[in-house]
Amino acid sequence: MRAFVTNYELKPVANLSDALTLLADERDAWKPFAGGTDLMVLFEAGKLAHRKFVNIWNLPELRGIEVTPEYVKLGALTTYTEVQANETLHREFPMLCQAASETGGLAIQNRGTLGGNIANASPAGDSPPALLAYDAELELVSKSGSRIVSYQGFHTGYKQMQMRADELIKSIRLPRSSEAQSHYYRKVGTRKAQAISKICFAAVAQVDGERIKDMRIALGSVAPTVVRCTRTEDILRNQKIDAAIVSAARTEMAREVSPIDDIRSTANYRLRVALNVLEDFLISL
Ligand SMILES: Cc1cc2nc3c(=O)[nH]c(=O)nc-3n(C[C@H](O)[C@H](O)[C@H](O)COP(=O)(O)OP(=O)(O)OC[C@H]3O[C@@H](n4cnc5c(N)ncnc54)[C@H](O)[C@@H]3O)c2cc1C
Repeated sequence: MRAFVTNYELKPVANLSDALTLLADERDAWKPFAGGTDLMVLFEAGKLAHRKFVNIWNLPELRGIEVTPEYVKLGALTTYTEVQANETLHREFPMLCQAASETGGLAIQNRGTLGGNIANASPAGDSPPALLAYDAELELVSKSGSRIVSYQGFHTGYKQMQMRADELIKSIRLPRSSEAQSHYYRKVGTRKAQAISKICFAAVAQVDGERIKDMRIALGSVAPTVVRCTRTEDILRNQKIDAAIVSAARTEMAREVSPIDDIRSTANYRLRVALNVLEDFLISL
């Protein structure tokens, strides 16, 4: 049942400083509202427990894609449409563009933001596995300053993360690499569009001849948070790609993830598909 509109407050702010002052001075009273594509679903279902929101959608300080020699910095309000329109991201971070193109439909892509996808903290989000595989960092801001945290380890449990109630995600930084890399992204859902992932796999690798020099593998929907499969990566690093190493990697990944049964899929299916996608990725290398 739809929530009663007048029970809610959506406060406009003139600038980032005013938003941060509000979040700090009335700690826990206000939560950010960006594109609203997650929050409005809860609202429409009458399940939006929190009542007071600060509207950050119009803050220019949280917008824009900046390219520096070291990294590409995306404002937290960067939409999926903006991700797909950026040439540098297409060239150097194609998995993020693919994730953006497979997120919702056009309306969601025009309004949904990367910051919202991260802070919504769903293990089934589509951009988080790509961000993890690219070793992203987050810039968090509050009235008392800013800090940079690694995205790996940011989510500490289901819907839990290392961000205080007075903080906002200001930007996402993707470190640029001068090495040739292979990128592999695969979202498996019930259908091609407008489907939440059953599993989501993102991996980036550097290969030297037949040997894997380095790689990062991330998976969504196989644990309470999106996960980096560091033990599987360790098995594969410096190895020649052959049937034995593919089999060893499958065994290790099966130990490393713990999918569950839910309305979208079963634990069995998720595990089986994750391992098959891992194998497909290794064969593609
Ligand atoms: C029809 C439909 C289809 C969808 N399909 C997909 C899909 O295929 N894949 C997918 O991953 N998601 C999907 N989503 C979910 C949603 O669109 C994304 O998670 C989106 O990125 C959320 O961004 P937003 O700006 O709309 O977040 P909001 O709804 O505004 O906020 C979400 C949460 O993040 C917090 N927040 C937002 N911005 C910040 C910030 N800068 N700092 C701190 N906290 C912040 C808010 O307080 C809130 O808790 C879908 C949603 C709908 C309605």
